[in-house]
Amino acid sequence: MKGILKFLNIRKGDTVVVKSGKDKGNKGKVIKTIPGAGKIVVEGINMVSKAMRPTQQMPQGKIARREAPILASKVMVLCPNCHQPTRIAHRLIEGDKSVRACKVCSETIDKA
Ligand SMILES: [Zn+2]
Repeated sequence: MKGILKFLNIRKGDTVVVKSGKDKGNKGKVIKTIPGAGKIVVEGINMVSKAMRPTQQMPQGKIARREAPILASKVMVLCPNCHQPTRIAHRLIEGDKSVRACKVCSETIDKA
């Protein structure tokens, strides 16, 4: 196990499955990646309540539900081809271009 990954194998728009924690087994779409922290934000996963300041329009204030970042290492990418959670392989195409591939079905995940 390496330290914090500076480079994430997960990209915005990927569908991922949570491997551990309270959202274990849940799926969602990645809406944001934070490579420096090794974290991602996934739609509908790790929801937290956040109190909003009262405004003139809403003098009572408001509790907003929003996604908090989770560690990218806690999820697996769901392969769009075989629909299995998979580890990511890297494959070189056209000599120097790297694309991500599924380790289950070997299909390319990234659209070239
Ligand atoms: Zn696959």
